[in-house]
Order: sequence, then structure tokens, then C-alpha cells
Amino acid sequence: MTHPTIIASESTKAETRHFVASPAAAVPGSCRGFGVHRFLSVTVMLLVSCLLVTVTGCQMTRRTTFAAHLPNQHSVRTKHFVIQSDVPIDAQDPLVKELESLQETVRTTLQLPEQRDPVVVYLFSDEVTYRFYMQSTWKDLPARRAYFVGTPRELAVYSFRSPRLQEDLRHEFTHGILHACLDTVPLWLDEGLAEYFEIRGCESGESHPMHVAELRRAMEEGWNPSLYKLEVTTDFRNLTQRDYAEAWAWVHFLMHTKPQAREVLLTYISSLSKTSTPKRLQPDLEKVMPEYFPTARAHMEKLQASPSTVQLTSPPTPASPFLFP
Ligand SMILES: [Zn+2]
Repeated sequence: MTHPTIIASESTKAETRHFVASPAAAVPGSCRGFGVHRFLSVTVMLLVSCLLVTVTGCQMTRRTTFAAHLPNQHSVRTKHFVIQSDVPIDAQDPLVKELESLQETVRTTLQLPEQRDPVVVYLFSDEVTYRFYMQSTWKDLPARRAYFVGTPRELAVYSFRSPRLQEDLRHEFTHGILHACLDTVPLWLDEGLAEYFEIRGCESGESHPMHVAELRRAMEEGWNPSLYKLEVTTDFRNLTQRDYAEAWAWVHFLMHTKPQAREVLLTYISSLSKTSTPKRLQPDLEKVMPEYFPTARAHMEKLQASPSTVQLTSPPTPASPFLFP
């Protein structure tokens, strides 16, 4: 299976990705949350034997003596994804239903074109096996609890069974859907949408508790949002926890304020299926909605001021001791 659009688009997208010579030389990425959040997201481009690879990811831990192999004992195949697991899983598993529902939500909410290829979800039975595989395969990648890796061969999500699996998979699987439907996704939007869709009920406007808290801290410090700054941030290592919160907040603003703002976003996303070198979104937004900045600022103030009614799909847990290997 090949992903010619990804190869073509990403090979011309040096401005939005980080390139390295090989998996073994992949450089550490920026961490969202700095030990506070349940996973850290990043998009990295890896150049592997002249083939370009998209990586987004979460937490990884130390090397062990476990064998490095992909889960392969059980699998569930649907129209849009395949789950491979060493733990029994069938089509009625709640996880399968969750991903089926999420795929439909993402596709219909964003009016995405037909998904070209399935996303392959490698579900490790435990963290030790997962982390050893990831460290053996993608040496020197930053510590993450889950990864999305897009290669010309497949669009793959890697994670392991944990109390936070559902929430991790919602985030990484959203990356997979986007890259399965579009030629390219700018860094800020890739993460903003993944953060947006990891919350159940997001399409109805549910907010993200962690990002709301971060926005509150930011505004107390006199921070102001800047879509321009996010759009020109092309190195994932420069993304901070606040950047992730802001990317989520811009998506939430575009989706849930005025119809013309939502239309600008959907038109922009539609353009990403036709080009590998997308323009910035802000000029289009400013043209359609000259008052976009004060409106967005007011929306973010409203978000940070109102207590969230939604909880993450699993309770917060202490940061992993392996968060910063
Ligand atoms: Zn991500």
C-alpha cells in the first residue's frame, strides 16, 4: 500500500515539518505539558531511505530486554482502520466502536473527502513492550505515550493498553484520519484538530479542561492569542503547552462562533486535499471576518471563564517517571 500524496506533499513541506536523516537520527521533539499532561503531541517528519514519514506522538520509556515486534496475534478490520493486538479483540469491542464513531464524526464535521487508505492501529498489550518496540524502531524520538506515524507504506498509530488508551487513541487516530484524507495538514491545525477531537462531544462545543486551564493561566499573565505566530511555527520543537492550548482554542473558535468563521476553516481544510503547499488561513479569515481577533479573544476569555462540563475520558494520573528519558 502506498501513499503517493503524502510522499509528494511532505517532500515539499519542509517548512511545516522537521526532517531527519533516518529513524535512528530522529531528534527529540517539544513536549506538551512538561510532565503535567497525559500525553505529549508532536509532528515530526522522518526521512527514511528517501521516503518521508510523518510522526506525531506521545510518551515513550526506557529500553528493556523485550523483543521488538508489532502486535499481530489478533486483528479487527473495518472499512477505515485495522487494529492489530496481542490481546484478543473483536468487532464488538468498545474501542472499535469508539474509533468507528470518531471516524464518522471527524469526516462529517470537517466535510473531509473519502478516506484513501485505512489507518493501522498497533495496540501493544503493555507499556514495556510498546516502549521497547518504539525505541528500537524510532530511536531518539521524544518520550511519548502514543504515536501516529505516516509513511508511504501505511498510516500507523502505536499505543498500548492503559487507563488513558481511549483518549490517546482519539488524538492519534484523528491525525491518521486527517492524513488519510488530505494531502497535507499544517502543524498548528494538525495538533489543534487532534486536541479538539480527543474530547467526546467536541462537535457540540464541549471544551477541553486542560486547555481551558492553560488559557486561564495565560490570560492571567496578559497573554494574547496570535494565529499568525502559530501558523509560522513550523518546528514542532518550538510548540509549547500553551501553543497546543491555543491551537485547540482557534479550532474551537472557528467551529463554534460565527458561520462564516466555520466556513473559512472548512474551505481551508478542503483546500488541503488539493495542494501540498497550503497558504496561511489567517488572511482568508481576516477578509471574511475583519473583527476576527477581538471576537476570538472574547471567545477564549469566555472559554477560560466557564467551568468545563466535560471530563477527559480517563482521570489524570501522575506524570510517568519516564516522561523525560
Ligand atoms: Zn498530536
